Amino acid sequence: MHDPLEKHAPDRPMFAPDAFRLSPSQAELIAKAQEFGRGVLAPRAQKYDREASFPIENFRDMRREGLLGICIPKEEGGLGADFATYCLAAAELGRYCGATALSWNMHVCSTLWSGALADDLPMSPSDRNAHNTRRRMHYRRILENGAIYAQPFSEGGAAAAGVVAFGTEARPVEGGFRVSGKKIFASLSGAADYYGVLCTERAQGEAASRRNTLYLAVPADAEGVSVVGDWDPLGMRGTVSRTLLLKEAFVPNEEMLMPHGIYFQAATRWPHMFLTLSPTYMGLAQAAYDFTVAYLRGEMPGTPPVRRRMYPTKQIAVAEMHIQLEQTKALWFQAISEACPDPGKEQVLRAYAAQHTVMENANAIAAKALRTCGGQAMLKSLALERIYRDSRCGSLMLPWTAEICVDRIGREALYEPGEKDD
Ligand SMILES: Cc1cc2nc3c(=O)[nH]c(=O)nc-3n(C[C@H](O)[C@H](O)[C@H](O)COP(=O)(O)OP(=O)(O)OC[C@H]3O[C@@H](n4cnc5c(N)ncnc54)[C@H](O)[C@@H]3O)c2cc1C
Repeated sequence: MHDPLEKHAPDRPMFAPDAFRLSPSQAELIAKAQEFGRGVLAPRAQKYDREASFPIENFRDMRREGLLGICIPKEEGGLGADFATYCLAAAELGRYCGATALSWNMHVCSTLWSGALADDLPMSPSDRNAHNTRRRMHYRRILENGAIYAQPFSEGGAAAAGVVAFGTEARPVEGGFRVSGKKIFASLSGAADYYGVLCTERAQGEAASRRNTLYLAVPADAEGVSVVGDWDPLGMRGTVSRTLLLKEAFVPNEEMLMPHGIYFQAATRWPHMFLTLSPTYMGLAQAAYDFTVAYLRGEMPGTPPVRRRMYPTKQIAVAEMHIQLEQTKALWFQAISEACPDPGKEQVLRAYAAQHTVMENANAIAAKALRTCGGQAMLKSLALERIYRDSRCGSLMLPWTAEICVDRIGREALYEPGEKDD
C-alpha cells in the first residue's frame, strides 16, 4: 500500500542546508523559493509552455513574495541574496518551471550585476556615488512598481560570445544616448518594462571597442523600441524570446546599469557572472530525476498507481541517473560557492566545467528519464516531456555554450596567457 503522507510530502531541498552547510538565512530564502516553485509555478507551467506565452502572472506573484528583489540589498528593501544564495534559490524555481526561472534570471541579473558584483569592482568615488544613486532608482522601480527587466545581449554574431564589440550602438547625445541595433532571443520581449541592453558606446569617428560596452536599461515604451517576429521554439517556450529592434531610441544617462567601462571589467574580472544561466538547468536535472523516482514508485499524479520499481533494469537506470545528478550538483555547488573577483585559473576552468556539466547533464538525465519511464511518460499531460525539451536549450546559450566551454577549457588548460607555439 502507498503511504499517502509520503506521496504528498513536500519535495526535499536539492541542497539540504545541513549537508551543504548553508546559513539559516540562506536556507530560509531557498525554502521560500522551493515552496513558491512547487505551489505556484508547477501548476501553471504546462499552460505557458503549450501557449508559448509569457508567465506574467508568475512575475506578479513573485513581486508579492519579494522575489523580484531577491538580489537587491536588504538595506534597500530587497531580500539581499548573494550570488550563491540566488543560484540555489533559482535552481529550486527551475525545478518546477524552467521558462519562469530562466526569465526571472534575466530580470535578477540586472540587480545582481549592478549590485553585489559591481561592489567588487574598483570605481572612482564619483562613479561609485553616481552608480549608487542610479541603481537605487532601478531598485525602487522594481520594489515599488513591480518593474520587470530583461537582458537582451545576443545579436546573432560573435558579440554575445565576447569576441567582438556589440553591433548595437549607443551614440552619446545631450542628456543620454541614442541607441540603435537588433537583439535576437530577447527573453521577456513584450512583457519587460526595461530591456537591459549591452551596446557599444561610440562617439562619432570613434572605433568600436569591447572596452566601451555599456549596460543600459532601455525603457520598453521609448520611441524607436519594437518587438518583432514570432516565437514557436522547441523548449523554454514561456520565455517568449522574440527580436528586439532599437532605432535611435533615446535613453537618458540615469538608465546606465553600470558606469562607463565597468561591464568590460565585470566580464573579464568576475567571470562567474556568466554562470547565472545554469541554476535553471540544475533544477531541470533534479526535476527529471524526481519525476523518474515518483513514476517508478507508481506515485505520479495523473497516472495509474502502477509500480515499476522492482525491475533491476529500472533500478540500474535510476542509480546511474542518481550518480550523474550528484556529480552535477557537487561540481556546480563548488563553482557557485567560489565565485569572486579575479578568480584563479583553476577556478575559472572549474566554472566552465560546471556550466558544461549542468547544461549537458540536465538533458542527458531527462533523456534517460524518458527511456526509463517509458511511453506513457512522454505524454504532454506530464511534466517530463516539457522538462526534456526545456533541458535541451541550456547548451545553446551564449556566452558559455557547451561548445565554447570545451573550447576554452582545452585552450586555457594547455596554454598560459601569452604563450604561443612558434
Ligand atoms: C530559450 C532561450 C532563451 C534565450 N534568451 C536570451 C536572452 O534573454 N538574452 C540573450 O541575450 N540571449 C538569449 N538567448 C540566446 C542565446 O544566448 C544565444 O545567443 C543563442 O542561442 C545563439 O544562437 P545562434 O544560433 O545565433 O548562435 P551562433 O552565434 O550562431 O553560435 C552557434 C554555436 O556556435 C558556437 N560558437 C559561437 N561563437 C563561438 C566562438 N566564438 N567560439 C567557439 N564557438 C562558438 C556556440 O557553441 C554556439 O552554440 C536565449 C536562447 C534560448 C535558447
